Amino acid sequence: MSDLPKQRSETAFADYKAAYTPAQAAVEAHRCLYCNDAPCIAVCPTSINIPEFIRKIATGNIEGSAGTIFSSNILGMSCARVCPVETLCVGDCVFENMGVPPVQIGKLQRFATDAAYEAGWQYFEAGADSGKSVGIVGAGPAGLACAHELRRLGHAVTIYDKRPLPGGLSTGGIAPYKIRADSALAEVAWVLQIGGIDIQHNVEIPGDIGWEELSTRHDALFLGFGLGPDSTLDIPGADLDGISGAVEYIERLKLGVVDLSKVRNAVVVGGGNTAVDCVRELLGLGVANVKMVYRGNESQMTGYAHEWSAAKNEGARVVWHAQPVAVEGEGSVSGLRCCRTDANKKAMPETEHTIAADLILVATGQAKLGDLVAGLDGVQTEWGRVVCNDDGSTGMPGIYAGGDCRNGGKEVVNAVADGRDAARAMHTYLGGV
Ligand SMILES: Cc1cc2nc3c(=O)[nH]c(=O)nc-3n(C[C@H](O)[C@H](O)[C@H](O)COP(=O)(O)OP(=O)(O)OC[C@H]3O[C@@H](n4cnc5c(N)ncnc54)[C@H](O)[C@@H]3O)c2cc1C
Ligand code: SF4
Repeated sequence: MSDLPKQRSETAFADYKAAYTPAQAAVEAHRCLYCNDAPCIAVCPTSINIPEFIRKIATGNIEGSAGTIFSSNILGMSCARVCPVETLCVGDCVFENMGVPPVQIGKLQRFATDAAYEAGWQYFEAGADSGKSVGIVGAGPAGLACAHELRRLGHAVTIYDKRPLPGGLSTGGIAPYKIRADSALAEVAWVLQIGGIDIQHNVEIPGDIGWEELSTRHDALFLGFGLGPDSTLDIPGADLDGISGAVEYIERLKLGVVDLSKVRNAVVVGGGNTAVDCVRELLGLGVANVKMVYRGNESQMTGYAHEWSAAKNEGARVVWHAQPVAVEGEGSVSGLRCCRTDANKKAMPETEHTIAADLILVATGQAKLGDLVAGLDGVQTEWGRVVCNDDGSTGMPGIYAGGDCRNGGKEVVNAVADGRDAARAMHTYLGGV
């Protein structure tokens, strides 16, 4: 695993949710009603037994609590930090219907999993050798969760990743105030403790190793290659210096240093979660004037309301109903020319105006990489997503998929659930019981 540079822009960020002290965790855990048919379990994609892990915290069994979490979700440490709990487990806590503050499940999960990392408690060992081998494309959350479960079941695993660092978007994409790259890499090391997971970096599939060769090396394959490059603006001036894809820019600030010393006016194009993250990251790095430009209004945004509300508190500003038509500047950007849009987000004539900008981040989505599987007969794609059955199997025997390349872009916890469940289905396919 390559080392991270010490100098990284992301180190400017503190955790946005403070960790619990043992006393705070105990008090919060005692508030849980330990519901039968707990709605929080049903809404967690990895179905962690939440009342059980919370009860264990309440009784002082922190090691057991973390064990409960990891046995369902081996990436429980990052999920505790990055899951949009307001729309998942916490949002479904029964207290929400009683006018009582919901139990802070994510913070309790963080308390237990952090304790496990700190103490180095061990929970898993590899299963008896099955003699079967699985190749995994992508060392992101889906690929890592799949690899760990396959090792528990005794299969040999090789992961191929085109990047020099593992962890996928947890390492290079998720906002540093939720998880920094060094913590994401610590989580990869946690997963690898089970032994027998070989990660081959800087290997692009199918460019460096073709599908045919991969299929002869392994008895089954799991596709967890996520999404592709940022969408670009197809308008004049879009190639000027000072304009960048949002995810590409976030990767630069997480894994290295971005120089914002000359940026006075930053514009982020989009209204989804990545756009909101970019706004908060630029504000956090000291850019005084950060504007989001979105072609709809606040109620049409796809970004989570709780994240947008935090961005507004941090000083975010926005131009609603605006659509870029040209990037202005000589050599580098000086402004973004936009027109107004109507209630249906359609451009309105003769409404052009310029928003000052010396940095423009384009957060209007990422490409789907469905074309990658063109050489795999029987694997279907739809809108660039790999089509799967519920267990992750595709139309080609022995080929499974999960995570963003399958669902088009959800959350880490969905990728973990996909990877784990596909591993269990592959175990059956490989003749395991
Ligand atoms: C900006 C941003 C912020 C986000 N914030 C959150 C958040 O706060 N909370 C949350 O839960 N989720 C968040 N997400 C979503 C979350 O990161 C993804 O859902 C999750 O990482 C998907 O995991 P994955 O393993 O499917 O894909 P990825 O994490 O994308 O991993 C895919 C891996 O495959 C590798 N790869 C790609 N193509 C190839 C190839 N051809 N050959 C070999 N390797 C390849 C890549 O290098 C990468 O390592 C965010 C996403 C973005 C873009
Ligand atoms: S993994 Fe995420 S959704 Fe599931 S219980 Fe933990 S914080 Fe909630």
